[in-house]
Amino acid sequence: MRIMVAKKAGFCFGVKRAIDITFNLAKEAKEGVFTYGPLIHNPQVVAELRSKGIDTVNDLSSADIKTLIIRTHGVAPEVYSDTKKMGYNVIDATCPFVKKAQNFTKILRDEGYQVLIIGDERHPEVQGLIGFAGENVIIANDADDMPNVQKKVGIIVQTTQSFETFRKVVLHVIGKAREVKIYNTICDSTVQRVKETRELARKVALMIIVGGKNSANTNQLVKLSAEVCDKVYHIETAGEIDGAWFKEVSKVGISGGASTPQWIIDDAVNRIREISARR
Ligand code: SF4
Repeated sequence: MRIMVAKKAGFCFGVKRAIDITFNLAKEAKEGVFTYGPLIHNPQVVAELRSKGIDTVNDLSSADIKTLIIRTHGVAPEVYSDTKKMGYNVIDATCPFVKKAQNFTKILRDEGYQVLIIGDERHPEVQGLIGFAGENVIIANDADDMPNVQKKVGIIVQTTQSFETFRKVVLHVIGKAREVKIYNTICDSTVQRVKETRELARKVALMIIVGGKNSANTNQLVKLSAEVCDKVYHIETAGEIDGAWFKEVSKVGISGGASTPQWIIDDAVNRIREISARR
């Protein structure tokens, strides 16, 4: 069985940076170090951090916090002011590309645009962007479910959003508003990963996507692969791989989300090699 692994599978620049910052802090073994929300959308990495003494908090008023790590997705401006009031030592691991999207959002707000964020309202990155957008903000995750737009609209997009959704929403808005200013803030890492995964999925009989079930960009890879490949499986760990999936399969593709560690991808490859050797 031929196994083809996407070159862009696994940690992106922003996640790698946040992981390095956090694991270096763990080495210093200080007490009271927490991430604000899970550092990345991967339960295995979050569990490893916990074993090294860095836990997750969701409530800023937790009495145990001394140092707070802001994750790649970033936070709204009020969170920075709250942490300052509480006297926490803040380590900001917001991805620089998310920071850029936050800055563009602020520019649109200051220039008097109704800010439209294309993304998932429940996603922490979008929650942070909402905080920069001011009160006149609307969110859309799909061109078929659009809120009303005003005459002057400024568009920003979640860094891991699909280009196709971005394109459809922009076309819709252009047909309704008089003045539209657009910042395409989808990050290059997302664009390349999606492109490569899709091309790989076209070439193989079975595609395995590795990553957290709660990871938006991993779920996007699953969805896009399923459009061009009949057999697509989403796994978090190699233990979920079932030998029965590979009956009459000669080519297998593997890709992973931005928050998937290399060691989990390697485990998956090794598990498929074992299955292949037994055939
Ligand atoms: S996907 Fe892009 S924006 Fe998000 S953390 Fe990775 S590099 Fe940064």
